[in-house]
Amino acid sequence: MAGSRLIIQQVVWDNNEFMNKLFKFFRQHTFSFVFSAVITLMITSATAQVRDTADSLMIRKLYDVVLSGEEMDANLRYLSRHIGARMTGSEQAKQAVDWARSTMSQYRPDSIYLQPVMVPHWVRGAKESAWFTTGGSSVKLDLSALGGSVGTGGTLTARVVEVRSWAELSSLSDEQVRGKVVFFNRAMDAREVETFKAYLAAADQRAQGAIAASKKGAIGALIRSLTLAKDDYPHTGAMSYDASVAKIPAAALSTNSADKLSEALKKDPKLQVSLKMNCIQLPDVLSYNVIAELRGAIHPEEFVTVGAHIDTWDVGEGASDDGTGVVQAMEVLRVFKATGLKPARTLRVILYMNEEAGAHGGVKYAEQAKARNEYHVAALESDAGGFSPRGFRIEASPEVVARFKEWALLLAPYKAGDVQSQQRGVDLVPMKGMAKALLSLDCDDSRLFYIHHSALDTYDKINPREVAMGAGAMAAMTALLCKYGL
Ligand SMILES: [Zn+2]
Repeated sequence: MAGSRLIIQQVVWDNNEFMNKLFKFFRQHTFSFVFSAVITLMITSATAQVRDTADSLMIRKLYDVVLSGEEMDANLRYLSRHIGARMTGSEQAKQAVDWARSTMSQYRPDSIYLQPVMVPHWVRGAKESAWFTTGGSSVKLDLSALGGSVGTGGTLTARVVEVRSWAELSSLSDEQVRGKVVFFNRAMDAREVETFKAYLAAADQRAQGAIAASKKGAIGALIRSLTLAKDDYPHTGAMSYDASVAKIPAAALSTNSADKLSEALKKDPKLQVSLKMNCIQLPDVLSYNVIAELRGAIHPEEFVTVGAHIDTWDVGEGASDDGTGVVQAMEVLRVFKATGLKPARTLRVILYMNEEAGAHGGVKYAEQAKARNEYHVAALESDAGGFSPRGFRIEASPEVVARFKEWALLLAPYKAGDVQSQQRGVDLVPMKGMAKALLSLDCDDSRLFYIHHSALDTYDKINPREVAMGAGAMAAMTALLCKYGL
């Protein structure tokens, strides 16, 4: 027992002596410890400050050139007014490719080239018409064939069955649907704050309506336009067929026409609708993505892409969707050159062909990038209408997203510091897993679906200041990505 006490005392003493030595050591070195800690802290924060200041100045410079420039708006005016709608496979799509190539050449990129891609070629033909007859009188309907739809081969006349949900369609027997036109009348939910969510929630009718209706023996499909407006403008868009069922004609009705038809069906469930659609799917044609590059000064083998889709629907001028994105992406190249910014990593401006009817251009780009084993830091697309930017929607690992949140502080003074999840660039989807981050410019979407895919998508609806603010955000983000990588 005594021996163990001794050992304990010894240990205590040893401990005391150790602590005393330690205190002495600290007393002697406290000043230098504190001093070096303070210096380290000062250097670290000074480095961060210098870096932030340098980045802030770089961003300010880019915005200055974008906001004071007139070239981007002139580009949008030309693309919308002079070339106009540029449906995939059309002569105007070809013109747009040539124009984008020659315009970007003037900005003196290190290289510019066309990437060949085979694309579908659907044409509307003579304008479609529709009407319903009830009580001996006929009432005109405003409609637009959906992209990819077959025509009616003359006039198709049939009774109508209206549904507002998939459950409602399923509850009907094949007998009740066979030989009729199914009228999908589920409206976009105006209560949804994010209109894009309301759009996606209703777009399944447009994408899948013809298949579901055909499965039950219907001979046509009408879809309420995907818009929050109550007007006479039908909104077209992509639809699909299933090889296992008959291809039936599908078209969108304006919201006013949809309401008119729905009211009339309440009074006369046996009324007949007539459709005359002249659209046709032609053989695929050769088209192109337009790609311009600024070679990275330090890491040329690392790529940062910024893009938009150059094709549009055939109605309107494709000013908002996606003329704004196209001129913004081109503007990024212009301002990099105008400010003398030499990217450390390679910047690629990509104008994708055929986003609207299957994203063949996006698929082709990803295919080629994979074949060449290219390393992509990030891919950014602007396709949200060209309205006031809020920030970026980002798809990346949590660590990478955290990085973007730091950069967001630099963009906050320009009202573009918001970081959201779920990027929305359709052309970027094939790059999933190939780039460390996929980003889309996020804009105020309140007005988008009033004009989207309709004859209302024209240059006069665009506010150049909003487009410029978006281009500034894109230039700043790509500059940071090119400088630091991920
Ligand atoms: Zn678009």
